[in-house]
Amino acid sequence: MKAKLETQSLDVTPITVLKGIGPRNADRLARIGVCTVQDLLFHLPSRYQDRTRVLPLGALTPGDQAVVEGVVEFTEIRLGRRRSLLVRIADGSGHLVLRFFHFSAAQKAGLTAGVRLRCFGEVRRGPATLEMIHPEYDRIDGHEPVAAAECLTPVYPTTEGMHQLTWRGMTDKALALLEAQPERLPEWLPEQLRHRYRLPDLCTAVRYLHRPPPDAAQAELLAGAHPAQRRLVFEELVAHQLSLGRLRQRRRHHRAPVLNGAKSLRRQFLANLPFSLTGAQRRAADEIAADLQQHCPMMRLLQGDVGSGKTVVAALAALQALESGHQVALMAPTELLSEQHLRSFRAWLSPLGIEIAWLTSRQKGRARELLLTGLASGDAGLVVGTQALFQADVVFDRLGLVIIDEQHRFGVHQRMALREKGRESGTIPHQLIMTATPIPRTLAMTAYADLDLSIIDELPPGRIPVATVVLPASRRLDVVERVRAACTQQRQAYWVCTLIEESEALEAEAAEETAAQLGQLLPELRIGLVHGRLKAVDKESVMLAFQRQELDLLVATTVIEVGVDVPNASLMIIENPERLGLAQLHQLRGRVGRGALESHCVLMYQTPLSANARQRLGVMRESNDGFLIARKDLELRGAGEVLGTRQTGEMQFRIADLVRDEALLEDVRQAARSILQHYPERVAPLVKRWIGGREQYIDA
Ligand code: ADP
Ligand code: MG
Repeated sequence: MKAKLETQSLDVTPITVLKGIGPRNADRLARIGVCTVQDLLFHLPSRYQDRTRVLPLGALTPGDQAVVEGVVEFTEIRLGRRRSLLVRIADGSGHLVLRFFHFSAAQKAGLTAGVRLRCFGEVRRGPATLEMIHPEYDRIDGHEPVAAAECLTPVYPTTEGMHQLTWRGMTDKALALLEAQPERLPEWLPEQLRHRYRLPDLCTAVRYLHRPPPDAAQAELLAGAHPAQRRLVFEELVAHQLSLGRLRQRRRHHRAPVLNGAKSLRRQFLANLPFSLTGAQRRAADEIAADLQQHCPMMRLLQGDVGSGKTVVAALAALQALESGHQVALMAPTELLSEQHLRSFRAWLSPLGIEIAWLTSRQKGRARELLLTGLASGDAGLVVGTQALFQADVVFDRLGLVIIDEQHRFGVHQRMALREKGRESGTIPHQLIMTATPIPRTLAMTAYADLDLSIIDELPPGRIPVATVVLPASRRLDVVERVRAACTQQRQAYWVCTLIEESEALEAEAAEETAAQLGQLLPELRIGLVHGRLKAVDKESVMLAFQRQELDLLVATTVIEVGVDVPNASLMIIENPERLGLAQLHQLRGRVGRGALESHCVLMYQTPLSANARQRLGVMRESNDGFLIARKDLELRGAGEVLGTRQTGEMQFRIADLVRDEALLEDVRQAARSILQHYPERVAPLVKRWIGGREQYIDA
């Protein structure tokens, strides 16, 4: 057992083999996912301090983090708003004041005139001269000079109870182990590829990042652009690509029904539409139609801005399945959105004689039984619903196609569960996934490398961009007047309430209050209220009333975010927009601007506004382009948030950052292809190193 511990590879070597890491620290580390020595080595510093040189006091400028040395000239206690201990040191080139707000008598006693100190801290401008507040310091007794650090000092992302000194101690030991037995962290990137992409070998890169030499390019390191970092990022991204590529390959071995029925329904449907498809819609529809005729299952992501007309494209796919004698399930993330789809599909497909079933968690008893019987017998061809569609007792006869709207709300495992529904008949249904959070193609091809991609990059003609203004909540009464003015001109408006908490109940309450208050301020308007706590029938009747223009103003929570389609609504007020991500704001705003009138959106924020929030709202004011907004959102919030993968645990990177590292993605894809082709035996260890147990989960 012991012998094994001494030779096994570091990805299975528990950190407790390192001297000084006991169960307490092991527990703390486990909380942030550091369990093995390899985990520790891949836990990289977030920044560095330069303690390698002692700077002369005269050379300091505010903002420097520096090591300095000097002799105490005098010490005094300054009274005032906050009592503080001031210690002035000098080194012949200049002075510096050390300021302590918390200090003990013993500490003060040790800092008398003539004592020599070495300090480390951040230099700031003080009232009289440059200062360091609460520097780290040591007395230098005797004359032998204390050695300065040999490397830049790493600062590690940490967790409660773990001091930087502890991190340095632990990584010292891990690095020593690596030095002695580098073979325990095997190199999996082929030398030929390292050479082609100019990447250092793994051990060198790891060592460098933990203990960079004094002349390392700090700016490059901070930006994550140093070759040593790129090397690790590259390997991680390659591993991801390989893992998703494996999923894709496995899919090729699966069978799907060939959906090559006569085009009669599709022709009729297109002929009945009051508009013709945009070029982008036609392209996407053709790509999907071609996939559906293959006998390996389609897995296609349909990206398109809010209002770009994804639903029509989905309807065409559904008709193709129906024409071919197969069933279709359309899944939406919320009940409200599922109702919206139900309504669109009924309007389009009833004239073709197609009935549509609707399944949500609200249906109970007899109605539900009937529905389930219809699906199991195959009598029901097209069903629209929510997550309820993949409950265990929902059985299909010949499910040929699954359509999922707004995929970022569903995890991969939910997608897979629905796909499994088609297995009864020995095949797997095709899948079409629609999202209105368009991300750049290179990024999408990495984040969703297991999916094919269709993009609708064109809006239907005649759309007028929504004019957006950003106002503080202190202008609320002006905004109320604006609503009055719009609604008395027969326009309709939304008033959207948002809350920080993910609590439907609190959000509903806030919306109720707002509706009551607006009712008093605007007695002449017909005001409706929708939120997530209403019964489905009540929600639907309010939405219908709004759609039929029996209501002027709809007060709503973010439940209306997706899908709701009322072209006469041309004004939207969003309260506390600073709490929402850009993609979500764009979705919300997409509820207006659907008709022939110019639409307006008022973003009414609470002060004070953070710099980041100000920037985000600025983006909304300047742009109506979902692709641009999604890109900004990625930059401001990071890929995990935007792709909605943070919660679900998929697509989490240890080191890579899809946004920061976007420029590498093309090379990564090439490298992954080359490894698959020429070094297939390295695929498994690479995937294991970076994805480990999580791949199974992704393939759930
Ligand atoms: P999204 O992509 O956001 O789901 P929808 O499918 O809801 O967009 O379409 C938005 C609106 O645009 C709907 O009212 C739809 O009927 C209409 N629409 C879709 N395609 C076209 C088109 N080619 N020309 C005109 N209007 C269209
Ligand atoms: Mg939609």
